[in-house]
Amino acid sequence: MLGGILIISGPSGSGKSTLCKEMFKSIDNSFFSISTTTRPIRDGEVNGADYYFVSKDKFKDDIKNSKFLEWAEVHGNYYGTSLDSVQKALNDGKLIVFDIDVQGFELVKNSVFSEFCTSIFILPPSMSLLKERLNSRGTDTKGSVENRIKNSKDELKYLHKYDYLIINDNLKIASGKLKAIAKSAKLKPESYKLKSFLDNWLKS
Ligand code: ADP
Ligand code: 5GP
Repeated sequence: MLGGILIISGPSGSGKSTLCKEMFKSIDNSFFSISTTTRPIRDGEVNGADYYFVSKDKFKDDIKNSKFLEWAEVHGNYYGTSLDSVQKALNDGKLIVFDIDVQGFELVKNSVFSEFCTSIFILPPSMSLLKERLNSRGTDTKGSVENRIKNSKDELKYLHKYDYLIINDNLKIASGKLKAIAKSAKLKPESYKLKSFLDNWLKS
């Protein structure tokens, strides 16, 4: 079996990281794609675990050297997904999970990996709760929170392109939904190495 790609997007503060952490507690053979970013590191984040934090010059070198499957400017910083780890995950039969923005989603959906993708958009129950959660997280400056809220309205324009929508109201219920989707994400026909699967199946 080959692996699969699970793309998770949604406005900043919608609960993507929180839900992913819950999901990884019970989904085997899966791992988080650690993106590279030029955003400053937040309190509590670990370089090499949450992100690879790099300078703008290093990021631009990586673009030149074709290191990224996709990259985008989001909320004024650069973010990119490493190509190597995706290829390895698929060959090793693993589910690789991307927490990427709507621009990254479009690029991956239109890449050679399109058929391996399952995509989920996460939203909190309301705009007022999104603001409340972003503020209570306490990791961003007032200006950055305002920018993230403003950008969320543009991000919503892509919602209909995703396979699934999860409303992150109750954490336990929302993470249950995410786990259910993650479990089925590797059952796409493409993950079966179809030609050899069908050759063997017809002979059996
Ligand atoms: P994202 O990764 O999408 O930017 P986070 O996972 O950092 O969002 O969540 C934003 C804030 O909302 C965090 O402080 C988190 O603890 C909180 N949060 C996430 N999910 C829920 C939920 N279901 N109920 C209440 N608070 C939540
Ligand atoms: P944050 O700064 O809150 O960690 O992330 C901000 C936004 O960048 C989120 O929407 C997140 O999904 C997105 N993001 C994180 N990594 C990547 C990436 O590698 N590529 C793209 N396109 N977006 C990313």
